Amino acid sequence: MFNILKSIKNIFIHIRSSLKFIFLLIIATALIIGILSIAYRPLYSVTIDGVFVGYTANRSTLQQTINAYKVQGDGANISFIDIQATPEYSLRLVRRDTETNDEEILASVKQSGVTYYRYYAIVLDNEVTQYVQCRETAQAIVNELTERRSENVSRIAYMQINRAELQEFAEADAVVASLFVAPRPAPVARGGAGVSTNPGRVSYNPSIEIAFIRPTSGIISSPFGPRRGGFHAGIDYAPPHGTPIHAAASGTVTRAGASGSGFGNFVIINHGNGVETLYAHAHLVLVSVGQTVAQGEQIATVGSTGNSTGPHLHFEIRLNGVSLNPAHYI
Ligand SMILES: [Zn+2]
Repeated sequence: MFNILKSIKNIFIHIRSSLKFIFLLIIATALIIGILSIAYRPLYSVTIDGVFVGYTANRSTLQQTINAYKVQGDGANISFIDIQATPEYSLRLVRRDTETNDEEILASVKQSGVTYYRYYAIVLDNEVTQYVQCRETAQAIVNELTERRSENVSRIAYMQINRAELQEFAEADAVVASLFVAPRPAPVARGGAGVSTNPGRVSYNPSIEIAFIRPTSGIISSPFGPRRGGFHAGIDYAPPHGTPIHAAASGTVTRAGASGSGFGNFVIINHGNGVETLYAHAHLVLVSVGQTVAQGEQIATVGSTGNSTGPHLHFEIRLNGVSLNPAHYI
């Protein structure tokens, strides 16, 4: 009996000393963690190709910044950035006063990247003539040369460039001026005696047996004649958007809809004897090819499609393909 009591007492003593030990251990651990967290903190050590470049506290934010930079870069005309180096991250416990340097890590990543720029080349006979900054400018140049019927327009194109080198960019007006070749007049079947140069540049008012009417209202925003180093082959009327456009004379519609050129949505009416009228930059086209229209009949509404900076009607009268000054015939 006495022996049993003694062993129970021993067990209690043992448990008590064990608890004491565990308790001390917990306190010691807490103290160590406390001391460590005063002196140290966890940071990501960043290496590129095995070379240490710095520490970051926020791995995902840094990587997101790098990913965004790859796509947008931080300049104009950037297509994409081919980054050679991939940062690698490993979590480390470092002295609390260790500085993070996301900026420098980003700089090292940028340094390893090759920047590709996107811009456009204006091409004549498959040879680059000039570079322009954006597709809109390239398209505007082609539109302008098309509208002025530059003789070489069928040999002019533009293409997108993705290259590691930037080029000097030309302005649209300068490119148009350098590429424009005045159109040769189409052979004139009748009434064209003595016409040897572009009839737009000489006084060329052959008589036409048609009494045209003004196709729309509004001020004349640009007359027929030389314009910005080129030649404006029609009259621009600028009434509000949606104003009706009327057939200037009766005839048959030969073109109607999207031109795919600077004219935007347009209509051409054939009046017979080589005489045509053209109505460009329309918003809505209300007639179709083959349809006969009476003089004054509504054929379209004024818009700003194609190479146009605001609502207007570009109106041309052509005799055997040569544009005449509409002011002499209305
Ligand atoms: Zn015009």
